[in-house]
Amino acid sequence: MSSHKLALSYKVAIITLLTGVSSLSISLLVGTTRFDHLLGIQRLKGENTRAGLGRVMSASAQVVSPAINQMNEVPKPFQGTIVYQAKLKANEKVIALSFDDGPGPKNTAQILEILKTNHIKATFFMIGEMVKYFPKIAKQVADDGHVIGNHTWHHWYRNMDLATAASEIDRTAEIIYKTTGEKTTLFRPPGGFLNNGLAEYAKNKKYAVMMWSEESGDAERRSPQVPMLVKNVLKYAKPGAIVLMHDGGGNRSRSVKALPEMIAGLKAQGYRFVTIPQLLEIQAQEQSVVMAASPTVTKDEHPNNQL
Ligand SMILES: [Zn+2]
Repeated sequence: MSSHKLALSYKVAIITLLTGVSSLSISLLVGTTRFDHLLGIQRLKGENTRAGLGRVMSASAQVVSPAINQMNEVPKPFQGTIVYQAKLKANEKVIALSFDDGPGPKNTAQILEILKTNHIKATFFMIGEMVKYFPKIAKQVADDGHVIGNHTWHHWYRNMDLATAASEIDRTAEIIYKTTGEKTTLFRPPGGFLNNGLAEYAKNKKYAVMMWSEESGDAERRSPQVPMLVKNVLKYAKPGAIVLMHDGGGNRSRSVKALPEMIAGLKAQGYRFVTIPQLLEIQAQEQSVVMAASPTVTKDEHPNNQL
């Protein structure tokens, strides 16, 4: 089942309207999207966000952001930018797992199984050529509700002219869409190279260029043993982090072995898991709360008021 088909069984939004300095608060428990639509609040879809439903979402009536129709779409401020992590409040223990270089014939399916067991949605940055070879696995990733990002066709690092960069990214977006039905809005440059022409093209095409803030080290030439992979991830975990792992590009059996322990460790630290678009949406929501909570300029205080 693809992400946008995921239906919320219930919807709860507590809307706090701040009026003037008196901060008159009205909390409404609503079961429809009427108020969300009016106030431009987007709630996250998917089961991973259930824990987030208890979160108080506040917004002033003036804060209106565009509607996000699909969960794999990133909030506007992030489109065409380079992102390493979400900047969240220290107590917002949310983290995003990402898997690169797949889909692969064996390890991707194993990772999907682990994620399913743990009720986790993640983000997979796929290589176009691999999608061509393993379309069923790519489709399975989408059907399981994960978000798919673009990781180019060939995974080249070298400098590219515009036509080559365009072909690398556009061909990949096309095959991902044809194979899985997902429109990619995320791009991750192979090797994290930002200056070879790819990232520039992706930014112009309004992709969010997604780097990472934590790496397991699973793709290093001499991949560490499983306990070290786990340690790497748990040690640097922080709210808003994006964890880099790999489900392709070689034998990733160590990643597969390390994953359940990483998840258990992060859960023990109080983390819940979201996709990258969900992570960015949480940051966007927090920022709208900050805007709403800032003191409202009353008519009398307004500098242009001549009365
Ligand atoms: Zn890669």
